Parts: sequence; structure tokens; C-alpha cells
Amino acid sequence: MTSSTAPLRLYVSSDLAAGVEFNLLPDQARYIAQVMRRNTGDPILLFNGRDGEWRGVLASISKKSASVLVEQQTRPQGVERGLKLLFAPVKRTATDLIVQKATELGVTLLQPVITQHTNNDRVRTDRLEAIVVEAAEQCCRVMVPEVCEPIALSDAVSDWPDGQVLFVMDETGGGDPVADVMTESAARNMGAAAFVIGPEGGFAETELDLLRSLPFSKFVSLGPRILRADTAALATLTCWQALCGDWRPGPS
Ligand code: SAM
Repeated sequence: MTSSTAPLRLYVSSDLAAGVEFNLLPDQARYIAQVMRRNTGDPILLFNGRDGEWRGVLASISKKSASVLVEQQTRPQGVERGLKLLFAPVKRTATDLIVQKATELGVTLLQPVITQHTNNDRVRTDRLEAIVVEAAEQCCRVMVPEVCEPIALSDAVSDWPDGQVLFVMDETGGGDPVADVMTESAARNMGAAAFVIGPEGGFAETELDLLRSLPFSKFVSLGPRILRADTAALATLTCWQALCGDWRPGPS
């Protein structure tokens, strides 16, 4: 008997092609069998960030193991527009929220940056990678954002890609209104974009001077109130997707 519920969606590391059969990880097998109570023959959607999304079936399942048989591609891999979020790690829960929501909001690369006021420079990237995978499974993305190891802000902005703008989210009131900046960016149909969000204590003056000195930086204001870093990250990405990004029909 197969369940009538919608297919589960799992990220796997294996190559995906018609006829390929492989075992899922033990944790995935336990989740499917014991939590989701799926059975042999039930459909499952699989993606690996390289081969697009594929539909398969559970070929075998027990409490501790499960194998899948890959059948047909349901979505091509495609190419997502580069969207880079540089963020100073904050308290763990808020950092987890930034990473999870940035994944749902289409970020393609997450770069933790250590700044003068960063009060949490121990970032467990393996934890963040697990959060990113779970968020990509949930929001039906076909790619999984890259999570980079933390680096100093000055290193993150050196050797910057030509033509890429770095939107500096500036709580000091020195930036242009976010709607104006992003509407203008949409009009210029710019390519990849990057945003940087400071720590709980904000950017240090020397850091703001450094960011101002960059030819590719653009200072942006999210209004008169001081937002928490996680709020600022979400608000920034929401404005971007609504005004410039893939929340509008057509190529983004
Ligand atoms: N210095 C303040 C503090 O000590 O609480 C604010 C830091 S704020 C919590 C963290 C980051 O969120 C800022 O560095 C900035 O990148 C972003 N942010 C917060 N409010 C903002 C606003 N109104 N406009 C633009 N960016 C903002």
C-alpha cells in the first residue's frame, strides 16, 4: 500500500540519472520510515544541486535503511542569479534564522564576516550547511546555497568580482532609501548582487570608511529604525526579490 501524500523531497549527494539506485543516509531512512511513515513504492523527489530535480521511488525501506530508484527528471538544474549575503555572525538562534530565511529568499552564497564588533566568531559551518539543506528541501529549491568559512570583512571585500555591486546596509542613516536603490538596480538589469549586514554592535567607523572607499559599494537605508541583524537581512532580501529579483515574472 502506498501513501497518498505528496512526495517527500530530499537533498542527496549521489549523482541523479534514470535507473540509478542508491541508499539514503541512515538519518534520512529513519525520517522517512519512522516520522513520515512512507513505504516501498512511495514516490520521492530528489535533488543534489547539480543534476536538477528527479522523481524516484522508494525501492526498499526499513527502520534504519532505505534505497531509492531514480526514474525521471522533473526540473532542470538551471542557473540562479548570484546573490551573496555577507553577514556578521550574531547569537546562534538569530544566525540560524538569517541562514534559513536567506536560503528561502534565494541567496546563492552565505559569507560570514568577522567585524570589530562581532561577538560570535565561532561559526559552525557544518550546522549552517544542515540548515541550508533543510531550507532548500522545504522551499523547493533545486540548488543549495554555498556556506563559506568566516573571514575578516576586509578579506571578504578584497579581490571583488568586476561589475558586482556590494549593497552596504547602513543603519547610521548614510544610505539611500532601499526602494530607490533597488528600483534603480532593476532598471539597470544588473547581474549578480551582494549585501553586507553588520553585527549587533553595528559596523565600526573604520569599517564604514573602508566600505565607503570601495568603488563597488552602495550604501542603503532600511528606514529610520535600527533593525536587528536578522531583521535587516530578511528585509533586505525581501526588498531585493520584490523589486529586482525573481518575485517578478520573467528573467531575474
Ligand atoms: N549599531 C546598532 C546596534 O548597536 O544595535 C545597530 C546594528 S544593527 C542591529 C546590525 C546591522 O543591521 C547593521 O550593521 C546594518 O547592517 C543592519 N541595519 C539595521 N538597521 C538598519 C537600517 N535602518 N538601515 C540599514 N541597515 C540596517
